[in-house]
Amino acid sequence: MKKIAIVGAGLLGRVTALTLLEDKNIHITLYEKARYDGEGAAASTAAGMLSPFAELETAESVIFEYGLKSIEMWSKILEQLGIGEAFSQKGSVITAHPQDSAELERFIATIYAKVPQAKEIRLLQNRELTALEPSLSHHTMAYHLYAEGQVDSAMFIEASTLFLLNHPRVTWFENHFIENGMEDLDAFNATHGTDFDWIFDTRGLGAKKEMPDLRGVRGEVFWLDAPEVNLSRPIRLMHPRYKIYIVPRANHRFVIGATEIESEDRSPISVRSSLELLSAVYSVHPSFAEARIVATKTDCRPSLEDNLPRIEQHKGMTRINGLYRHGYLLSPAIVQDALDGGLRRVV
Ligand SMILES: Cc1cc2nc3c(=O)[nH]c(=O)nc-3n(C[C@H](O)[C@H](O)[C@H](O)COP(=O)(O)OP(=O)(O)OC[C@H]3O[C@@H](n4cnc5c(N)ncnc54)[C@H](O)[C@@H]3O)c2cc1C
Repeated sequence: MKKIAIVGAGLLGRVTALTLLEDKNIHITLYEKARYDGEGAAASTAAGMLSPFAELETAESVIFEYGLKSIEMWSKILEQLGIGEAFSQKGSVITAHPQDSAELERFIATIYAKVPQAKEIRLLQNRELTALEPSLSHHTMAYHLYAEGQVDSAMFIEASTLFLLNHPRVTWFENHFIENGMEDLDAFNATHGTDFDWIFDTRGLGAKKEMPDLRGVRGEVFWLDAPEVNLSRPIRLMHPRYKIYIVPRANHRFVIGATEIESEDRSPISVRSSLELLSAVYSVHPSFAEARIVATKTDCRPSLEDNLPRIEQHKGMTRINGLYRHGYLLSPAIVQDALDGGLRRVV
């Protein structure tokens, strides 16, 4: 039996564990500084959007390619956890108010220029928009980003916690802050008195000492319950200042997000962000005025200098980080790459 340690049980730690457990000859030990419930991880704040097209506005085509691969992999991961319904791929709708139509056209032109698959995206006729999302029929300009989807991140965190805690080949230490011995495998085993065969460092922002260009990018979201609003797929509003997305969850719950602020401040949502997010959501659909605010969440996206993911392999240690705003979009394919390049060959 190979003994593998995973340090950091956020998004990457969980996806790594679930992928490795497919090999019946592997035992996993998870070390997590916070509790089992995932509340210490950016993964719990994330909306779980799988947006390969929309991310192209600022990202390179490599993010798109990894994204398409991951979308295929997510449905299998979630079925393994018994929550197949936490995945959906109905595409997303992107719209703008008439005065901001130039913003939307610029966005579409940007993604057309980056990947050939974008050429299939076209302006929706009013009857097409009404068929997709009847409650948006008053919007005059919208596009359907057909390949996009979402993972219900709250369901994923809850189900993966239960699955891993109950798995016979998993040992999970919560409230376990690991700082020393993270240089390589020998240093880890010597520091912690263990005999692991391989270590994964998936500590997100916790890996700053080993990755000096790591930084946090603050993001804030609202959870709203809006019984009068019916939307069946994620909606994006292009706006010169307040871009937002609305992600529908079960029972008329919506995740509204997200701000993007160059700061590692995890304190509660600001008045300014609240005004901007809530005004924008109300402008998409007036029935949001009667929604109830059930939660606000804030966390920081672990990001590297180039805002791209990075896999480092060094003497029995694999470090994966820098998933920035694409963690759900990228993690299954990035983890697969890390395993193909290191562990399966070396152990
Ligand atoms: C507001 C917001 C919205 C987002 N929306 C989306 C979205 O719609 N789609 C998308 O694809 N991505 C989204 N993301 C990005 C996504 O959440 C991140 O990219 C992803 O969570 C990064 O995964 P990670 O495992 O590297 O870090 P995390 O998920 O933060 O996990 C790191 C884990 O390591 C633990 N840890 C840290 N230090 C230590 C230590 N010293 N010892 C032990 N454990 C430690 C932490 O407690 C945590 O559990 C969003 C992020 C935010 C903040």
